[in-house]
Amino acid sequence: MDIQVQNLHKSYQNQHVLKGINLSVKTGEIVGLLGPNGAGKSTLMKILTGFTTADEGEVHVIDKNINTDKLNIQKQLGYLPEQNPLYDEMYVREFLKFNANIFKINNQRIKEVIKLTQLTPEANKKIHQLSKGYKQRVGIAAALLHDPKILILDEPTTGLDPNQLVEIRALIKKISIDKTIILSTHIMQEVEAICNRVVIIKKGEIVKDQSLTDLQQSS
Ligand code: ADP
Ligand code: ADP
Repeated sequence: MDIQVQNLHKSYQNQHVLKGINLSVKTGEIVGLLGPNGAGKSTLMKILTGFTTADEGEVHVIDKNINTDKLNIQKQLGYLPEQNPLYDEMYVREFLKFNANIFKINNQRIKEVIKLTQLTPEANKKIHQLSKGYKQRVGIAAALLHDPKILILDEPTTGLDPNQLVEIRALIKKISIDKTIILSTHIMQEVEAICNRVVIIKKGEIVKDQSLTDLQQSS
C-alpha cells in the first residue's frame, strides 16, 4: 500500500475540518479527490505531505509513519501545492535548479524534466512572464525532479483556460504511467479524464470511494 490513512482528524480553532478519514491507495492508482471548496482536500494533502500534522489518526506513506519518518517520505513524494510559491523574478531554469539542489539532483535530470513537461522554450524566461498553464507546468516539473513514486497534486487545473486545462490534464496523464497519484478537484469531468478511482469528500468526510469502472457501470 502506498498510502494508508486511518481515522484521521484535524481541527482548526473550533472548526472540525477532517472527521475520521480512512483511505488506502495502492501503487499505480490515480485517485481523484473530489469535493467542493472547504471540504478538507487541501488539509488532507498537507497532512499526507507532512506540511501539517493531524490531531488524531495514523498516516503511513510507503509503509513509513509520517510522524517519525517525514524526510524519507518526502524523498519519494512530489507535491504541487494549491498556492504554488513560485518565485516570479526567477528564471524557470534557475527555479528548477534551486529546487533540485534540495535533493542534490544533477543537471541531466533537470533537462529531462524540462523536456518531459514541455518547458524547453520557456526555460529561459522569467516565471512572471508565463501564463498560468505554464506556471503549473513549472510547479509540476519541480514536483517531478527527484522522480518521486507518489505525486500529490492540489487542484492542478483550477483557474486554467480551456486550452491550458486540456494540456495540463494530458501532461498529468502522461506522467501518471509509473506513479501513484492523488489529485484534488471540484470537477467530476477531471476525474473521468485522468483518474481510475474517485474519492468524494464533503465536510471532512469521505462519502464515496469507487473505481471509475464501477462508477460508470452503476450510472
Ligand atoms: P481552498 O481554496 O483549498 O479552500 P483556502 O483558500 O481555504 O484554500 O486556503 C488557502 C490558504 O489559506 C491555505 O494555506 C490554508 O491553509 C489557509 N487558510 C484557509 N482558511 C484559513 C483560515 N480560516 N485561517 C487561516 N488560514 C486559512
Ligand atoms: P478544500 O481544499 O477542500 O477547499 P481546505 O482543506 O482548504 O479545503 O479547507 C477546509 C476548511 O478548513 C475550510 O473551511 C478552510 O477555511 C479551513 N482551513 C484551512 N486551512 C486553515 C488554516 N490554516 N487555519 C484555519 N482554517 C483553515
